[in-house]
Amino acid sequence: MPVLDESLTPVFEEVVRRNPGEAEFHQAVREVLESLGPVVAKHPEYADAEIIRRLCEPERQIIFRVPWTDDAGRVQLNRGFRVQFNSALGPYKGGLRFHPSVYLGIVKFLGFEQIFKNALTGMPIGGAKGGSDFDPKGRSNAEVMRFCQSFMTELSRHVGEYTDVPAGDIGVGGREIGYLFGQYKRMTNRYESGVLTGKGLTWGGSQVRTEATGYGAVYFVDEMLRGAGDSFDDKRVVVSGSGNVAIYAIEKAQQLGAIVVACSDSDGYVVDEAGIDLDLLKEIKNGHRGRVNDYAEQRPGVRFVPGRSIWEVPCAIALPCATQNELDADGAAALIRGGTRIVAEGANMPTTPEAIRALREAGVLFAPGKAVNAGGVATSALEMQQNASRDSWTFEYTDERLGEIMRSIHDRCLETADTYGKPGDYVAGANIAGFTQVADAMLALGLI
Ligand code: GLU
Repeated sequence: MPVLDESLTPVFEEVVRRNPGEAEFHQAVREVLESLGPVVAKHPEYADAEIIRRLCEPERQIIFRVPWTDDAGRVQLNRGFRVQFNSALGPYKGGLRFHPSVYLGIVKFLGFEQIFKNALTGMPIGGAKGGSDFDPKGRSNAEVMRFCQSFMTELSRHVGEYTDVPAGDIGVGGREIGYLFGQYKRMTNRYESGVLTGKGLTWGGSQVRTEATGYGAVYFVDEMLRGAGDSFDDKRVVVSGSGNVAIYAIEKAQQLGAIVVACSDSDGYVVDEAGIDLDLLKEIKNGHRGRVNDYAEQRPGVRFVPGRSIWEVPCAIALPCATQNELDADGAAALIRGGTRIVAEGANMPTTPEAIRALREAGVLFAPGKAVNAGGVATSALEMQQNASRDSWTFEYTDERLGEIMRSIHDRCLETADTYGKPGDYVAGANIAGFTQVADAMLALGLI
């Protein structure tokens, strides 16, 4: 493990001590602190105000019971979370994740990442995350609705357009946002569009929000390529996952001329040498909530490889777009063997610290999720703007704004990395640029 700056070691130790058993949260904090050595050296005022210790402690953490009945009339029980991490830059903002792996440590890692990601977008939004250990897989629409209604019955006390604005994440898409918004509206008797983002287009949603995380990730990588005098044209790309982020990363990469040869889910991966047929994949995933195995069954010549790592498929560009820690040291070794030049994180913290180290040592250009996948939340902020002005923008205009935001995040990462003596280091650039923006706002707002 790289050593932390002397002054940051006790901060990290305190985080581990105060948050026992939350491995993912420790990992996310450590990764940011590893970048901050040159910042604390240059800015003693941050240490004087204990900015970093304060940043590592969420402003508020809410944990609640979510009881609901299944279709057989049995009572089911889940746990709900909302961690409102930091509101120095604006109302708390961040998604809700419904997945059986969700526990406090996952929500805190995601909320912590969200602070810096949201700062990087340049939009006025603080950082938060929430969710539940509810597993939507195999549940009927009616069950998902009852769960969402029960979840919002408690969450409604803690959110609001000026307070906290949730959105989707894994397991939470347009359907769930609809049920959540419906229940909030019913409980408050207010059509408060700005309380949630990722809404449907006919009831306050924004164009491009569905596509934004995947498109944004590809816009970011396009800038990385441009910097090297290169482009996506004819590049062999592997995208892990097959959810919302993966699908729209594939779509935009294909539009820019790439050949996306593989995608995956938790059962395994498919290799399609002709390039993924996106219409078929969308129909399977969005139309039937199916699996990539179904894709292989419906498309001749496509291999489904169960239970193995997608990173063994050789590619020039790898986009991990599934979930945390999906790309480990073995995966990184496989990518390096396969000749990969760029790894950019579409998901939140999909690459383990060991894998990041191996990739960078091998000269692979690596860009972190808090910069690469910021297009989703940035477009959420554009949705909030449209709601506040009771306006709705065209697809083209919104997409243009997204493109500008991604290019500006990319440039800011590189400029910041340069300023702090780490040229070309996207990790340091993203962490330092996000951190200093939040830290300066916290200083200005006093001890709160
Ligand atoms: N869950 C997404 C993320 O990880 C989007 C959050 C949002 O739009 O508020 O950034």
